Amino acid sequence: MAVPKRKTTPSRRNMRRSHHALTVEAYQECPNCGELKRPHHMCPACGHYNGREIIAVEA
Ligand SMILES: [Zn+2]
Repeated sequence: MAVPKRKTTPSRRNMRRSHHALTVEAYQECPNCGELKRPHHMCPACGHYNGREIIAVEA
């Protein structure tokens, strides 16, 4: 079985992981309540999407 000749140093390991960062998700303001929501998603704060109420959200 092929086996690494040398132990990966913390420096090498961290350089490899430099590409592992998660990207920040996109957010927009809800035109109904002003809360931040994801684009093309129903607003979780007021239940609105595309100018009308999709689900009733208890305040
Ligand atoms: Zn909203």
